[in-house]
Amino acid sequence: MQNYNIAIIGSGIIGMTLALQLSSIEHINITLYGKKPKYSQFKTTAILATSFDIYEQLLGLSVSDPQISKLKKFKIIDELKSKQKIIDFDATEINLNSFAYNIRDNYLAERLYTEIIKNDSIACKNEFVRGLEDSLGKTILNTSDGAIEFDLVIGADGRNSIIRELAGINFSKKIYKENILVTEIKHSAQNNNTSFEIHRNGSLLTSVPTGNKTSAIVMIDQPQIIDDITTDNLDTIIRESLSVYLGNTMVSNKYSIFPSETINAEKLYRNRVMLVGESAHVIPPIGAQGLNLGLRDIISFYKILSNHDKKDPGSKTILSSYNNARWLDIYKRYKSVNLLYQSMMNNNAGYSALRNIGFITLNKSKKIRNMLLTEGLSFNE
Ligand SMILES: Cc1cc2nc3c(=O)[nH]c(=O)nc-3n(C[C@H](O)[C@H](O)[C@H](O)COP(=O)(O)OP(=O)(O)OC[C@H]3O[C@@H](n4cnc5c(N)ncnc54)[C@H](O)[C@@H]3O)c2cc1C
Repeated sequence: MQNYNIAIIGSGIIGMTLALQLSSIEHINITLYGKKPKYSQFKTTAILATSFDIYEQLLGLSVSDPQISKLKKFKIIDELKSKQKIIDFDATEINLNSFAYNIRDNYLAERLYTEIIKNDSIACKNEFVRGLEDSLGKTILNTSDGAIEFDLVIGADGRNSIIRELAGINFSKKIYKENILVTEIKHSAQNNNTSFEIHRNGSLLTSVPTGNKTSAIVMIDQPQIIDDITTDNLDTIIRESLSVYLGNTMVSNKYSIFPSETINAEKLYRNRVMLVGESAHVIPPIGAQGLNLGLRDIISFYKILSNHDKKDPGSKTILSSYNNARWLDIYKRYKSVNLLYQSMMNNNAGYSALRNIGFITLNKSKKIRNMLLTEGLSFNE
């Protein structure tokens, strides 16, 4: 059987997961380009229960690993109007033990990296790729080893993807005015595996369990608030918002800041180049969707390759099947998460009415709650 060569550009969580997943296909040789990633110490990712399998299979990772926190419940507290409204969700409503499993990005990246370097089917090149020449017939990467031809080049190089740019794949990008701060807190009360989301006009504060008495914090707020943050005023914001649920809170004196932006590639491939993860789609961090979308890109591409055993992975048939399989899921998440984001950050009458209707319906209708939860978890993919 003919062997094919695939280059994966970017060794972030998505690039490494993809390399491991594809390495089990016999007729494919993989070269992974990129440096070992280092994420913010506070950055955690909630992996949905419906996506976690991939890490059980590739890394032998267990949901009982002490580094993983189960997310069994979440409480949404809407403080947009003078009267506070609360909605509680529990994974048992949809017969699950947990909605998601929260894991530190650095821990997951380390586990992936350890597995990658043990894997003989993956050649690792510790370098940043800067050049690409692409046509229907072949794709050439310009690397420190010279020009190398591949049957397929996959851009897993994140939101500022150079592969997307060099391949000429159009995309839309919107930079929101808010910024995102992530940190971690200790608290005197147990979180009972519950995530708290406080919605206020123009801001969102979320806590996600990282231990029984520790939680990661994601705060989306106006730039003037995030830019002027000090440990003291952050401590006050957290205490005033969360101590009613989590007891006395103690905030770390360090934090990381991310821009709030959204990106959507027009298409997931061009000639012999395709995109996965954030090189193809970036959405605001609400509802634990971003990495999960990327994991579904990987599973979908792997299934297509496995079903077309001997086919050239860079052929139009394979790449257009991948594009068609992923397009709707990505479009739906992109639209719904951005609409939800704008409804929280914008104070206009239309968004406010939408939110009110949403809250009333969710509190009254079990059927709609179940629909929202199963849709959020992508049970139907
Ligand atoms: C605050 C915050 C909270 C989030 N929470 C969640 C959550 O709870 N659940 C969820 O599902 N998602 C969440 N996300 C989204 C999730 O973190 C991202 O979707 C995910 O990390 C993207 O992974 P990636 O591998 O595609 O990109 P990245 O992690 O950015 O990796 C890209 C890699 O490519 C490398 N690279 C770039 N250019 C080149 C080049 N030319 N050559 C070689 N290498 C290159 C980079 O160095 C990097 O290592 C969150 C995001 C944020 C900002």
